[in-house]
Amino acid sequence: MGVRHQHWIGGRPAEPADGGYLPTVDPSTRLPGDEIAAGSAADADRAVAAAAAAQPGWAERSGAERADVLHRAAGAIESGAGELMEVERACTGKTEAQLRMEVGMSADYFRYYAGILRAHHGRTIDLGAGNHTYTRLEPYGVVAAITPWNLPLNQACRALAPALAAGNALVAKPSEFTSVSTLCLARLAGEAGLPDGLLNVVTGTGPDAGAPLAAHPGVRRVTFTGSVATGRLLAGIAADRLVPMTLELGGKSPLVVFADADTDRAIAAAVSAVAFNAGQVCSATTRLLVEASAHDAVVAGVVEAVERLRPGIDFGPMITEAQFRKVLGHFADAKRQGAVPVTGGSAYDDGPGAGGRFIRPTVYAGVTPGLRIAREEVFGPVLVTMPFADEAEAVALANDTDYGLVAAVWSGDAARGLRVAERIDAGQVAVNGGALGVETPFGGFKASGYGREKGIEALHEYAQTKTISLSLRP
Ligand code: NAD
Repeated sequence: MGVRHQHWIGGRPAEPADGGYLPTVDPSTRLPGDEIAAGSAADADRAVAAAAAAQPGWAERSGAERADVLHRAAGAIESGAGELMEVERACTGKTEAQLRMEVGMSADYFRYYAGILRAHHGRTIDLGAGNHTYTRLEPYGVVAAITPWNLPLNQACRALAPALAAGNALVAKPSEFTSVSTLCLARLAGEAGLPDGLLNVVTGTGPDAGAPLAAHPGVRRVTFTGSVATGRLLAGIAADRLVPMTLELGGKSPLVVFADADTDRAIAAAVSAVAFNAGQVCSATTRLLVEASAHDAVVAGVVEAVERLRPGIDFGPMITEAQFRKVLGHFADAKRQGAVPVTGGSAYDDGPGAGGRFIRPTVYAGVTPGLRIAREEVFGPVLVTMPFADEAEAVALANDTDYGLVAAVWSGDAARGLRVAERIDAGQVAVNGGALGVETPFGGFKASGYGREKGIEALHEYAQTKTISLSLRP
């Protein structure tokens, strides 16, 4: 049997109040792994109390002191990379390259916010002689961070690092399928000097542990990454309590390729939308829109490349059984609607992918935009393609979605690339593979959510502005 992991509350492991544990499973073999504490309202309560006790002392420290601790936490992630990668691999089946990248980015969140928090200040406002008026950027207090299973450690750090930098304490509730890396992070950060109680982790299911945490009267802000359905539910709880929220939800993002583009690079981008985390990425550009004259050649290039991808080496399995079934359900539904994939469309029933939850890279070419597989987020290694006639139709198709998380545009005409980027309703658009990183604000338009993670914007999300004015008149 694997290890039993308790919650992490007040700087130490904590037995779940109800005494229960949940199993985890290695999705590349379907063998049982470690167990995690099955959290409840009582555990959320203890964790919020620990966070509330620790937060004022943290907020009173200078920016330089907080930055120093966060730099040390980043160092702990880097030196603990081997352990973090192994526990993450055991719950997700991710490839080594993917794990290395995610752990590296996780450390980078701490380094980045440790750096910029020293430039995170209020301002003075000149209201004329006889007044001294200024603003302060104050933390909310206790922040709840509820995160998903697709990039578990990375998404936890994306929320935790700026929230801690801004002077808050946190209670994290990671996905019940992939909690171990966040527990490990809390321990490593504590060993590196993060004060006890500042980062608590309560594990368990969404309804049993996440919902009571979000509804807890001691929680003053909620950050959520996950599905639209859960986001809507939590937004209702937050609205009822009048606490602000960051909502990072799903996507069905377009990758727009004009005939004058560097098609080899555009094809590589489309292939990575399938291969990267096996398509289990909110920002995967899974709607490939190609100018009609180039459509068939680009699709042929993509199909040829995805057929070379090797399960377990180039891409991982579906992380949860429910997700595995959901993707297969999409295939069955597409078939009923008359869509036939040009490649893939099934799980591996023999060879290296069999036994684990591996789905064959799949391409549906020239689909009609109304098909369910063309509209809904599949969250698997699945692309749909559509031809477009001109720039106006490219923009119309790109925007013909409930979502608006990211987009990619490829064109040999940079002005056209920017023009199209400006007209797409999405929070982040890359033209010709433009760089994006921890520094670049990230978040959705439309049903992809609201609020921004990453960049200086995230630091502002986790702070509330107070204005103080003093009359200097005698
Ligand atoms: P999910 O909504 O099922 O779960 C996310 C988290 O919410 C988990 O911790 C879960 O336990 C918790 N949860 C579930 N039900 C809850 C409830 N009733 N009350 C409180 N908490 C609850 O999402 P998922 O399946 O883990 O993740 C996949 C989804 O996340 C996809 O739709 C994907 O697009 C989205 N996602 C978005 C981003 C982004 O940055 N925009 C990043 C990654 C994933």
